[in-house]
Amino acid sequence: MIRVHPGKSVAQVMSSPHVARALRFFETNADAITEEQIRICSIPASPFGEQARAEYFRGKFSELGLTGVEIDDEGNCLGLWRGSSQAPLMVVSAHLDTVFSADTNFNVVRRENKLFAPGIADDGCGLAALIALAQAIQSERIPIEGSILFVGTVGEEGEGNLRGVRYLFTKGRWAKHIDSFVSFDGPGLDRITNRALGSRRYRIEVAGPGGHSWGDFGLPNPVHAIGRAISRLAGYPAPREPRTTFNVGRIEGGRSVNAIPSEASMEVDLRSAGESELQRLDAFFRRAMKDAVDEENGKRRAGDQLLRLKVNLIGERPSGETPADSPLVELAIEATKLLGVEPRLDRSSTDSNLPISLGIPAITLGAGGASAFSHSLDEWYDPRGRDLGLKRGLLVVLGMVGVIL
Ligand SMILES: [Zn+2]
Repeated sequence: MIRVHPGKSVAQVMSSPHVARALRFFETNADAITEEQIRICSIPASPFGEQARAEYFRGKFSELGLTGVEIDDEGNCLGLWRGSSQAPLMVVSAHLDTVFSADTNFNVVRRENKLFAPGIADDGCGLAALIALAQAIQSERIPIEGSILFVGTVGEEGEGNLRGVRYLFTKGRWAKHIDSFVSFDGPGLDRITNRALGSRRYRIEVAGPGGHSWGDFGLPNPVHAIGRAISRLAGYPAPREPRTTFNVGRIEGGRSVNAIPSEASMEVDLRSAGESELQRLDAFFRRAMKDAVDEENGKRRAGDQLLRLKVNLIGERPSGETPADSPLVELAIEATKLLGVEPRLDRSSTDSNLPISLGIPAITLGAGGASAFSHSLDEWYDPRGRDLGLKRGLLVVLGMVGVIL
């Protein structure tokens, strides 16, 4: 028996007749894969509201003959496709959640080649890929050496703060057994996200006594304090390299034009491609916030109540990278080229951030097809050419777990 050992070449994987059939599977079943995507995306999945979609995946995974199918304590749906041994174990995932609230209309509308629905591409096409990959492996009986853990994760988008993968890698029953990770997220063929974009997100609350704009003039003003902090942050000399960004995305506070507000809040997003730059920006922002409140408090009259500052960390995503010369990235580059596409290594914030920060090889790949307006109600997905993305995905996964020829 000849084995293509894990981490070897994609070309060798392709020499298996089972694999050759599985690659054709994606072409002959293109319409069925799209129908499946429509079914998945019609099930609402808002942040912290992924249960119904997870239940659907539990049913699908069981139907496909995966073992140990379960929804874990965080809400991820898992199912194992066992090879001749458990190791190496690769997680193949896509995220169940969307950025849209529960009252969104998730119905999918088809117009010519395009499917319209919130979340249809992000991550509807990744979720469809998850099922298509499992189907191809099952129906063509590809004999694999290691094992594949299929996972629909919760909490990939903003507020979820990677809670699904965080649980999977730190508390879940597979936590210490995962050797590599791939996430299918969004469309496309060339992108190989091997670098994790780190971020920190805050909700800042400032509270004070509040009063009349004329009669109580001189009281410390929470909106003014937040204004002073924004002014400081806006002056931060963010380096271009490593790319570092900040954004005040939301401010709220006050009740009336002639009242000194008793509260104000803002939400702030800090990002950097470099971990130490992110820490520097983070320290600057915390300092700016404290100084701004102190300054506003410094204006108060004797006996006035002080402003109180509350700094809530609402998001934290680690940065890092899977090296370009690691077997996983090399396999992805080789598979992309074999399909006639020029690969592009990329940095982004995805489920892969978490395993990357733990030193576990991880990448995020597009699942084929095209899309636009993701994270908006006008989001669309065009499945034409999707088979190439699925072929690439399959080759990378098989390259990592190994195939028995
Ligand atoms: Zn996504």
